[in-house]
Amino acid sequence: MGHVELVDLSKSYDKQKSVLDGINLTIEEGEFFVLVGPSGSGKSTLLRMIAGLEEITGGTLKINNETVNHLPPKDRNLSMVFQNYALYPHLNVEQNILFGLRAKKVSKQEQQERLMEAVEMMGLGEYLKRKPRELSGGQRQRVALARSIVSQAPLCLMDEPLSNLDAKLRAHMRIEIRRLQKRLGLTMVYVTHDQVEAMTMGDRIMVLNDGKIQQVGKPIHLYNEPANLFVASFIGSPK
Ligand code: ADP
Ligand code: MG
Repeated sequence: MGHVELVDLSKSYDKQKSVLDGINLTIEEGEFFVLVGPSGSGKSTLLRMIAGLEEITGGTLKINNETVNHLPPKDRNLSMVFQNYALYPHLNVEQNILFGLRAKKVSKQEQQERLMEAVEMMGLGEYLKRKPRELSGGQRQRVALARSIVSQAPLCLMDEPLSNLDAKLRAHMRIEIRRLQKRLGLTMVYVTHDQVEAMTMGDRIMVLNDGKIQQVGKPIHLYNEPANLFVASFIGSPK
């Protein structure tokens, strides 16, 4: 329940030049798919289009073989971790994490079980009653991750979720996220500009530059056989 297909997908804001151009891509169910590219290459735009938060201006988006170009975000059965976390300032950590479950038919007991698991995984036990303004950037980021985890949506979209964490925590989170994704069989679309994250987490990596796909493949494939100099320098391969 998380097969994603982009058919000739493109995007332009207003009448400006296109930000994404003829993207053709299939993401398999249960795959950890990493999207890398420099700032401004269109990564967030692509993720937001999959989420339904950005209008598709050309081509077709299919989720589980159904065209969803105009399906509202709430009906797409996915979770998203935003670059800026998007927490509710007036709610405490616990309420923020559970917010999305309120509208769903998840029992109170089940909610508590999922909460405890996510809180333990993200190391947020001491902070449950705090408001977002009383947290550091890294702690807020972990709340956003916990909120995504408790939803247990089969398709998970993450936009640079570890960018605000220190190196040690980032290394820990890489492993935790990967482990969770495997255990739940989630389809993950994971945006990063960190080569280490891309190489160690991805089943496959897509390199984007200026709205165009440079290469898609397994990390080792991109490393050994980069399609062009851009990929080579971005992935850090010797060529
Ligand atoms: P990335 O996430 O890879 O840094 P983005 O998807 O955020 O890239 O942006 C891709 C391009 O689209 C950039 O040139 C950016 O300025 C432009 N862009 C992003 N959002 C908007 C918007 N709401 N209106 C106009 N242009 C935008
Ligand atoms: Mg971005």
